[in-house]
Amino acid sequence: MVYSKHNIFSRITGSDNFFIVNLLSGSADILGPAEGNMLHDYLEGKDIAEEFRKNLQEKGYLVDEKDEAKLYRNKYLDFIDTRDEDEVQLFFVPNYSCNFACTYCYQDEYAPVKQELTTAVIDAFFSYVGHEFAGQKKYLTVFGGEPLLNSPKQKELIAYLLKQANESNLEVCFVTNGYSLVEYIDLLRTSRIREIQVTLDGIGIVHDSRRFLKGGGATFEKIVSGIDACLRMRLPVNLRMVIDKENIQGLPELAQFAIDKGWTKNEFFKTQIGRNYELHHCQATSEKLFSRISLYETIYQQIQKHPYILEFYKPAYSVSKFLFENGSLPDPLFDACPACKTEWAFDYTGHIFSCTATVGKTDESLGTFYPEVSRKDELIAAWENRDVTAISECFGCSMQLACGGGCGSVAKNRSGNVCSTDCRPVKELLELGFSTYFGKA
Ligand code: SF4
Ligand code: SF4
Repeated sequence: MVYSKHNIFSRITGSDNFFIVNLLSGSADILGPAEGNMLHDYLEGKDIAEEFRKNLQEKGYLVDEKDEAKLYRNKYLDFIDTRDEDEVQLFFVPNYSCNFACTYCYQDEYAPVKQELTTAVIDAFFSYVGHEFAGQKKYLTVFGGEPLLNSPKQKELIAYLLKQANESNLEVCFVTNGYSLVEYIDLLRTSRIREIQVTLDGIGIVHDSRRFLKGGGATFEKIVSGIDACLRMRLPVNLRMVIDKENIQGLPELAQFAIDKGWTKNEFFKTQIGRNYELHHCQATSEKLFSRISLYETIYQQIQKHPYILEFYKPAYSVSKFLFENGSLPDPLFDACPACKTEWAFDYTGHIFSCTATVGKTDESLGTFYPEVSRKDELIAAWENRDVTAISECFGCSMQLACGGGCGSVAKNRSGNVCSTDCRPVKELLELGFSTYFGKA
């Protein structure tokens, strides 16, 4: 019997206890100080109590290597099978233009293509997805730029898009800055809205100093009215806060605001936190950006000081939240990147992309759906084949079944190759997560 290469073992933040997690066997345990030290002894080659050894064996922390390899293969096949059944998210960008001039917007690097969305492009999009994803579960997410611009022409196009989505029996999500939600609400109610993602980066001036209108002008109050209107109409809202070092201090305040508004008790309301990071181009002010782990360490500290933040937002901390809420671990994650598998993106110029991270970057185009259909099969295959079994560095990594190899686009930006690593600080996140959800005692 050997120590499983999928064990993740560490000390819980702020505690004398330890945790051990194994995504392949599906076991997770909190170990007291004595057991944790015994496991350390084992790893140093020292003898340990027989009963403890048996326990480790039963849970799949000590394994027969051949049995483990077989289990890994079987779970991998299950993963591929399940993914074939998964719902596909189809992003559509009607325009890259926007009425906001957010301080951190990456889309400023795109020179907008001098071409406008037409009903012919929308028809071609629905015809392509109807054919290409026939028989697959799917839904549409409308993305930008800002899709809900308050002009008669844009409203007409969005109305046409929604009509086509209804005819194709597709649910629709919007990713919007939320400024014109009130003006769009009647139109949105004509379709099957799954979710509207709106961004607030804090309350009042904290938000307004980051997300203002082009040419200046506050946006906070109007977005709040839009969120209220959606919730009144039972349109699900996913509130996103984009965080960096400049606004992290506003998290408790925004949480309290949402609690006071009654949003957090509304079944149609949920939240997410987005890390402002260098996916697209080197931001001039990159010193204000958090690394993934420093963001979550800071959120952890904020939650220690203001526990009510958890009413507003519960960080996943890798698989910790899932384990806490479900009482069991999720299935092993052989691939964290849905690009070209369960996610595709399309834009008004007729181009096809892997996902939202690459959409609009002409050199990342994977083909076209308009004016004619074309596909760059070799590039698509590189995205499709990416998972932890295809990335050589992931092979010996004990985090692989929680990390899933990270984001293909971040990996490509770093190394030039989609099939390379975007490492996630899984162990460090679990240290914080066990502390938050299972306590320090
Ligand atoms: S991307 Fe890095 S952390 Fe993730 S599985 Fe691969 S080697 Fe491990
Ligand atoms: S490349 Fe990154 S952003 Fe795109 S689908 Fe994969 S994980 Fe998501």
